[in-house]
Amino acid sequence: MSMKHQAYAMFDSSTIPDDLCPIATKPTPMLPGDWRSMRPVVDRAKCVKCAVCWLYCPVQCVVERPAWFDFNLKTCKGCGICATECPQRAIAMIEEASA
Ligand code: SF4
Ligand code: SF4
Repeated sequence: MSMKHQAYAMFDSSTIPDDLCPIATKPTPMLPGDWRSMRPVVDRAKCVKCAVCWLYCPVQCVVERPAWFDFNLKTCKGCGICATECPQRAIAMIEEASA
């Protein structure tokens, strides 16, 4: 069975208006650290290096330190999943304004 060819292109980029939101039409160099409202802070005394935060972080910004896990705040989006999943309750989410 052969696929039926479409009679017209599905998407013609020349029809995009110039004033459309740039985030929707082209890649942006903005990183989550530019717009995040909350950031994770780890209590090093409570962290047992189980790596659960590393496993669950959806953007892979948890980084290993010699005795605990830390976060790459350039790419961390502040979702708080690491804090929710940490079995030791070692991660606190704090407001960027008070950081
Ligand atoms: S989940 Fe919690 S205890 Fe485990 S490595 Fe991460 S911060 Fe440490
Ligand atoms: S707050 Fe979200 S993005 Fe940031 S380290 Fe935790 S899980 Fe990753």
